Amino acid sequence: MRRGQNMISAHRQNQQLILRNILQRPGIARQTLSEFIGLTPASITNLTGSLLRGGWIAEEGQAAGPRTVGRPSIGIRIATGTHYMGAVYLQRRRISVGLAELDGTAVVRFDDELEDRPDPRQTVQRMGMMLEAAIRKVRPPHLLGVGVGASGIVDYPAAVIRVAPRYGWSNVPLGEWLGKVLKVPVVVDNNTRGMALAEQLLSPHREVRWLAFLYIGRGMAAGVWADGRIYRGSRGIGGEVGHTTVFADGERCWCGNRGCLELYLSEDTIRARTGVSEDTPIEQAIEQAPSALREEIVHLVTTALVNLDNIYNPEVVVLGGWVDRAWPILREAVTDELSARTTYWPHPVRVVASSFGEGIGLTGAAVIGLGQLVYGVGEDDWRPPASLPREWSL
Ligand SMILES: [Zn+2]
Repeated sequence: MRRGQNMISAHRQNQQLILRNILQRPGIARQTLSEFIGLTPASITNLTGSLLRGGWIAEEGQAAGPRTVGRPSIGIRIATGTHYMGAVYLQRRRISVGLAELDGTAVVRFDDELEDRPDPRQTVQRMGMMLEAAIRKVRPPHLLGVGVGASGIVDYPAAVIRVAPRYGWSNVPLGEWLGKVLKVPVVVDNNTRGMALAEQLLSPHREVRWLAFLYIGRGMAAGVWADGRIYRGSRGIGGEVGHTTVFADGERCWCGNRGCLELYLSEDTIRARTGVSEDTPIEQAIEQAPSALREEIVHLVTTALVNLDNIYNPEVVVLGGWVDRAWPILREAVTDELSARTTYWPHPVRVVASSFGEGIGLTGAAVIGLGQLVYGVGEDDWRPPASLPREWSL
């Protein structure tokens, strides 16, 4: 949908702007909202009125902010218990499905094993069944849409997974297939982009204009929020920091390159090198590793951060995956090395743990849907699958 072309899209754009401001400033008064957004108080009253009737926002007691003389103003927040966003987080061997409130709070979650090289059509059927089971658990059972966080290269406007080497998938029109099963719009993106968006939209980093989410798990990638939008690059590869070279003559990676960071920092590599099984938490393995190996891990994690800083120059890097769980063990050494390796850059980049911990994958998937369908932080050229009913729109 192109915005700004007619009255309907301008109205939708204003509603999304209002919702985004209320999400990020819960309890805001209409007057303050009018000052923030630059719309007249009459327009704000009109637009918030229709959002209230639609169950998108709710009123509460005293507004947040300084007291004003006269009648106390009523604060507005995002409504809960009215609409739900479906979320699908696809990992290498696991599929997680859930529902989130409009403010991103997770309300239902199911996890299931995913076999190696799963059949794409059967996987979509499974997602559909899991989401139908999830929506039966809430009242009202109102599914607004679905956000899917997948690994690999995703064509975001078309909701097609172009290449997902770990599943053996290419050109899978996941958005269209799942949309036909559930009859709601389905937004598909790379999962680390959803994680970056969740940190920017829902967490204390909401004022940050440049943010990178560095995920290191079985795979490794970064989602980058760059000056108010998600950074994708020309072919959807932007942020694939796991495939930046650390050893020019290193091992051959599945991507075709040599010496990729992911080869040395993936959870499988760390487990193999520390000699621990799946049953031992990886942070424990790192804590107990010989000091030479720990130093090597510190050095490689710092390398990822230095590369991210030099390429994207974020204000903050948020960590996810095993590096997030091991951050209390690694923080001091990594921060020291990072500041030594970026000595001449003003204001060293801040590196922090995720605000959502292990829940970031599913929250990120929900925010992929919420961002596009509710808050208007997706791309303008995203298009819903054909043959959808119209009621989904705000
Ligand atoms: Zn690679």
